[in-house]
Amino acid sequence: MALRKIVEQGEDCLKKVCRPVTEFNPRLVSLLDDLLETLAEAGGAGLAAPQVGVLRRACVVMDDETEEYIELVNPEIVSRSGEQTGPEGCLSVPGKWGLVTRPQYVRVRAQDRNGDWFEVEGEGLLARCFCHELEHLDGHLYTEHIDRFLTDAEVEEYFSREEET
Ligand code: ZN
Repeated sequence: MALRKIVEQGEDCLKKVCRPVTEFNPRLVSLLDDLLETLAEAGGAGLAAPQVGVLRRACVVMDDETEEYIELVNPEIVSRSGEQTGPEGCLSVPGKWGLVTRPQYVRVRAQDRNGDWFEVEGEGLLARCFCHELEHLDGHLYTEHIDRFLTDAEVEEYFSREEET
């Protein structure tokens, strides 16, 4: 495993539609391992392959409740419901946050590192995270959904409110 460099907003690789993963080989295994290690080191909630410069449909997401990582290869959202609005950040847009409205619940179909299909569902933060990471695979960033970044005071307020609930 190795840490990879996370590219930042403005780089071309964050604007490209990624290609499906077709070969479930050692190269994919090391990509997923590196995504996990890089995400753990950065302390984020999710990381997509294009964020480390690899234009393939693969990402990793942390389940905030179990603190386990979920690997998603060729993921697609198969159902969604409800709505939530809350602060969202991105390792490719460091130190910034914006309010984004997402579904409250999503169900995702994806392959694992062996190519086996599975489905996983998420609510709240996990649903937000699935939506955010899957968007990266189509060349989109959360910043396309916001009018402005939150101020430091607003960010502080949102997170202190979350701790209370
Ligand atoms: Zn992101």
